Amino acid sequence: MWRQLRIALLLTVLAIVAGQSWMDRIRTTSWTAPLWIGIYPLNGDGSAAAERYVSALTPAAFTDIEAFFAREAARYDVQLASPVHIELYPRPRTLPPLLAPGSSVLATAWWSLKLRWYAARATREGARAAPNIRLFVLYHDPQRSARVPHSLGLQKGLVGVVYAFADSAADGGNSIVIAHELMHTLGATDKYDPQSDAPLYPQGYGEPQRRPLYPQPLAEIMAGRRALSATQVVMPDSLNEVVVGPATAAEIRWVR
Ligand SMILES: [Zn+2]
Repeated sequence: MWRQLRIALLLTVLAIVAGQSWMDRIRTTSWTAPLWIGIYPLNGDGSAAAERYVSALTPAAFTDIEAFFAREAARYDVQLASPVHIELYPRPRTLPPLLAPGSSVLATAWWSLKLRWYAARATREGARAAPNIRLFVLYHDPQRSARVPHSLGLQKGLVGVVYAFADSAADGGNSIVIAHELMHTLGATDKYDPQSDAPLYPQGYGEPQRRPLYPQPLAEIMAGRRALSATQVVMPDSLNEVVVGPATAAEIRWVR
């Protein structure tokens, strides 16, 4: 009796979660109204530099991401002048749960549940509308850490953790990483080789039809880098050098 009740309860929870994910997917890729994206800045390393940077952040730091989505959506004839609206929310009191590098599948699943719990509990939206997608941006002092862990965007739970640099010189790069993780929450997949970081051909190239093929002047957002030659890749400086390729556009349902 108890066993059956427990199983019934578990199945109900699973059905609700599955239904929720399905609804989220429909809602975030229908492109009939602007998607509301919440940025939650955090001091990622407890440094004075990150503290200063986060305290001085304004919504103006993210308008390039809105412009990028508007420009690229227009290329795919999406009938929406502003596909995404980015809103800067107050910083949460605590850092999000972090995923240890090399975590097992089970540990990753547990971490993603904890992250969703954190996203629902640790955010202070007050009287403001809750966003459709929450991105926690952890700023780090580049003098302290020249490299930061991999950022993550989850379609299930519509939440992302982004590692960024607390330096105005890195603003362009930060916006690229935020846009990339935002794309993940919308269902886009990576288009680079995880071993070499090289863009995959053709889907990871900004202009795969270009002749000569190299150097590529533009990067594809889910590849994150542009190829200068068959063996050399470079990070773009800003979203002005980034496009949404047809494969990514299909994944986020800009083309059907
Ligand atoms: Zn990625």
